[in-house]
Amino acid sequence: MLAELKGLNEECGLFGIWGHPDAAQVTYYGLHSLQHRGQEGTGMVLAQDGKLISSKGEGLVTEVFTEEKMQNLSGNAAIGHVRYTTAGGGGYENVQPLLFNFQSESMAMAHNGNIVNADQLKAQLEGQGSIFHSTSDTEVLAHLIRKGGFSELKQRITNGLSSLKGAYAYLIMTDSEMFVAMDPNGLRPLSLGMLGDAYVVASETCALDIVGAEFLRDIEPGELLVINDEGITSERFATCSQRSMCTMEYVYFSRPDSNIDGINVHTARKNLGKQLAVEKLIEADVVTGVPDSGNSAAIGYAEASGIPYEMGLLKNRYVGRTFIQPSQSLREQGVKMKLSPVRGVVEGKRVVMVDDSIVRGTTSKRIVRMLKEAGATEVHVLISSPPIKNPCFYGIDTSDKEELIAAKKSVEEIRELIGADSLTFLSVEGTVEAIGRQFEGENRGQCLACFNGKYPTEIFSDQEIDFIKS
Ligand code: 5GP
Ligand code: SF4
Ligand code: MG
Repeated sequence: MLAELKGLNEECGLFGIWGHPDAAQVTYYGLHSLQHRGQEGTGMVLAQDGKLISSKGEGLVTEVFTEEKMQNLSGNAAIGHVRYTTAGGGGYENVQPLLFNFQSESMAMAHNGNIVNADQLKAQLEGQGSIFHSTSDTEVLAHLIRKGGFSELKQRITNGLSSLKGAYAYLIMTDSEMFVAMDPNGLRPLSLGMLGDAYVVASETCALDIVGAEFLRDIEPGELLVINDEGITSERFATCSQRSMCTMEYVYFSRPDSNIDGINVHTARKNLGKQLAVEKLIEADVVTGVPDSGNSAAIGYAEASGIPYEMGLLKNRYVGRTFIQPSQSLREQGVKMKLSPVRGVVEGKRVVMVDDSIVRGTTSKRIVRMLKEAGATEVHVLISSPPIKNPCFYGIDTSDKEELIAAKKSVEEIRELIGADSLTFLSVEGTVEAIGRQFEGENRGQCLACFNGKYPTEIFSDQEIDFIKS
């Protein structure tokens, strides 16, 4: 599904390590555990004997970083990136980290999120003579930093960051230090850990666990960390007016074994499923999740409703991306190969099918049909998040309002379209309550913009302007 979804935004994974003799290998493992955040391309930049060495390519971590390539990579520090599709196009030049060799300094940069005023800043910078090497919005910060002249790098980074609007987690590395920055709303997750004496930073705590690092804390909104051989310092470059962690990180994007702001993602999903049972109790024989992202919520629904949880759908793990074919008929075949109904479980049964979200409705439609063809007498679809009615400008791939089925159709119309016997979405309040974050305010420090249209930042991009006009 991932590669089929198109959009202008991107969602990515970051990993960084400072002060470890085998930084390359540790980064490899870290990126591998973040692979679900992006499959289009991956790269790492290593700090080695006072130089920055870049290695990157299009494809999966295991494809890009072959055993042979890994043998030639070493360093004491690294930043790495996995990339999910394209802000402004794919291609090698957009694979991160980006490496900039200026006359006076070299700097590597990796970014997760989306800068909403990138177009405006780019136009300004080009007017002043900047030449962009990639079409990704990430590069804007590099130009802003260069424009700062020869003052202290940290000061130039802080100044550059203050011009950016939107969502960003940034890792910036020179041969002598690493900078870690989070946007003032804290829209994307980023955690800090320690591996022996080395500092580790990762988009998700699952990467800290995989490399054996001890979790220290999450990076705060508007925080800038500086890590070097002397240790670590922290400062605030911006005040946080509205803490806004992306709700979809809990609902869909992050790995179930990760924790975000102290809340385990699987547990959050399970609680979303329990909340669904509070809001809508269905008379049915079995509950099944749509693998993998719907499974945790399905377990929660089953537990709260007392209806047995069953494996009604099976995912074939060996279907590679090569099965995602350009033609519709081949694509349908690809979906069939990826997911199969378990006839012995669903035949003659009233089935509750739980999935995490509906974007365009294509997944639900196919699976309802699949379950009915396998003999389910009723299929009730429960979605463990509210209808996505608004595009996301912060880096999740729901940027085009035209593609969002809930933006155009009522719940009843969607139900009819996907062929379900009933369709229920979770309420916005129920979603907030179930995730259970401990922050002040109605949103509890969560972004809910794709559900309720209340964007936590100023709006700038052409897409946003088009959207508001429409
Ligand atoms: P749909 O088929 O309705 O367009 O997409 C919903 C399904 O796609 C869900 O099963 C969800 O797990 C999966 N999915 C894949 N990529 C994304 C994404 O970027 N955002 C969301 N919300 N769901 C996604
Ligand atoms: Fe996440 Fe939705 Fe906010 Fe985008 S709009 S950051 S997907 S909660
Ligand atoms: Mg899914």
